[in-house]
Formats: sequence, structure tokens, C-alpha cells
Amino acid sequence: MTSPLRLSIDLQALAGNWRWFDARSGAAETGAAVKADGYGLGAAAVIARLAEEGCRDFYMTTYDEIAAAGPLPPGCTAYALHGFRQGDDPRMPVVPVLNSKEQIAHWRQAAPGRACDVMVDTGMNRLGIGWREFTADLLAGLNLRTLHSHLACSDEPDSPMNTEQRTRFAGIVDAVRPARAALSGSGGACLGRAYHFGAIRPGLGLYGGVPHPAAAGQLASVAAPAAEILQVRAVAAGESAGYNARWTATRPTRLATVNIGYADGYLRAFSSCGEMLVQGRRCRVAGRISMDLTIVDIGDADARPGDWATLVYSLADAARISGLSQYELLTGLGHRYQRRYL
Ligand SMILES: *Cc1c(COP(=O)(O)O)cnc(C)c1O
Repeated sequence: MTSPLRLSIDLQALAGNWRWFDARSGAAETGAAVKADGYGLGAAAVIARLAEEGCRDFYMTTYDEIAAAGPLPPGCTAYALHGFRQGDDPRMPVVPVLNSKEQIAHWRQAAPGRACDVMVDTGMNRLGIGWREFTADLLAGLNLRTLHSHLACSDEPDSPMNTEQRTRFAGIVDAVRPARAALSGSGGACLGRAYHFGAIRPGLGLYGGVPHPAAAGQLASVAAPAAEILQVRAVAAGESAGYNARWTATRPTRLATVNIGYADGYLRAFSSCGEMLVQGRRCRVAGRISMDLTIVDIGDADARPGDWATLVYSLADAARISGLSQYELLTGLGHRYQRRYL
């Protein structure tokens, strides 16, 4: 069986992007965020390739997500960013990032002396112990490895939130002196040395997203969706296409119906602006994208059923033209793709 929908994943490009962060982060250790199944590209394959490059720290959300990714290569550590929840098995080879006093108490009792991390919230008000209530004695008796925090505005280099959060975090790190401290994902890693501390946790940039203006043009595209052409037809000027007849031919042309739709993450926001490469030519989406199908205006290209159309899906451009975030564009691709690792 072959699928009419493919996601090509360039593991060389992924590895190159990781090396870019590793070179920028200097002495700080470069990990990888591989949550949401490696941002939709397959956590197990991403982990295996990055471990070959020397990546040792892999950040996911929950224990069950980590179990689904399978055993890690030797010497690597899986971190559960959502911490240690009721029902999680403390014997699993996972370092939980504890987010509250309750989680700390639960871990102390369930896994005394075992390695853990702690998250401090320095202003995002999402996960972690609030910086105002954080005191060193909260950590008493814990085998703390890394103290974390997370930036709210790292993709906005001029936001005052960045320096505020950094200053708060640096104060706590000075007071607690953890073995390691980590503040930054991809965006923060681009804010400069002061944001690197002992480790960074990049995600988006590894997968070809542009997390910060400084990274524009520096990171290679990793994922390329492609779909099979199911049907080709000729239409006359004045004929319409697709649901609600929102597209009308202004000249005689040919339309290709392609096996991808919004259920595959190719959202309706691309109806008016999406492009695909058909026989090397950039072709516009014609009419509304449907659940499983998209119509493309291929002009006089000599494409036939069984040929493939590759989506123009550079994350930064796709985000700009669609108004969606690069994160949503990647993680929303869905499960119908046959992944092909290059
Ligand atoms: C998702 C996540 C990251 C990675 O962020 P990117 O912006 O994708 O680089 C880093 N740290 C934490 C806590 C996260 O939740």
C-alpha cells in the first residue's frame, strides 16, 4: 500500500540546525524539544538523529508521551516538562520538571533522592513555581539537576519582558546555585550569551522554523509535505471551482485535484494564498481547500493523475501569508502522512 500523502523529513537539515544552535550556545549544553511527537515529524527519528550529533537532553511533555517515543539512545535523558503527575510511574527513566510545591512534595514522597528538575515561572504565568514565592528551602532534600524557566516573548527581541525575566531568573540562580540552569528555547538562544545559562532547549528552529529575526536565513527547511494529483481537468474562463464557488477562472486553464486538505493541516487559510510546485512550476490554490482535497490551478502544465505536487511550505513564509503560527503549521499536519526520512 502506498499513501497519496507524504511528509519528507530531511534529517541532515535537522542535524545542521541543531549544530547551528550548539555553536551559538557556547559552553551551554544544547538539548532538543521533541514534544508533540517531535513537532509532528516523528520523535523517535528526531531523537535518534540528534543523539548522533551529540544531543543528550530531550524535552517532552508527559510520561505517556515519553513512553510513546520509545527507549532513548544510551546516555540520553528524557525530561517531562509537565512534571510528575498522579498516576505517573516514578521508576520510569524520566527526569520530571516539577512545576509546583505539590509536585515537589509528591516527588519527594514517591521517588526520594531521585534526580529531578524544577521550573520557576518568571512572569509568563503558565507553568512553574512563581518567582515571588520561590525560596531555596523549597528545594531541600531534592536531587535537583537543572533549574528552568521559560521566556514569554523570546521572538520579540525588543520586548522588555526578556530582560525582566532574565534578571529575575539570574537572581534565583545566584541564590540557589543549581548544578545547571536553563531559560531559553530557540528564540531565547538567539538573544545572546546572557540568555544561555548552562543549557538551552531549542525546538522550532531545529525543525526549520524561524524563531527570531537573527535566525532568518540561517536554518534549513526540514519538512516538505507532498500530495498526489488524483484528477486533472480543463476549465473555460468563467467556470468556478470548489465549495461555495469562491474561485472563477479568468482564462481557460487546467485544474489539478490534489490529495491533501484541512484534515491534513493544510488549513483553509491557504485557500487564497497557498502554492504548490507542480513539475517545478509554482501554482496557486484555486478555491476553498476541502477536508481531504485541494484544487490547484496548473495553467498549461502537462501534469497527470499519479504525479505529485509539493507544497510551498517554508514555515516563516507560510506563517506570514496565512496568519498562522509556525508552531501550528508544523504540529497541525496530522497523521495521514507517510513519513519519508531523507
Ligand atoms: C516548547 C518549549 C521549548 C521549545 O521552544 P521553541 O520555541 O520551540 O524553541 C523550550 N522550553 C519549554 C519549556 C517549552 O515548553
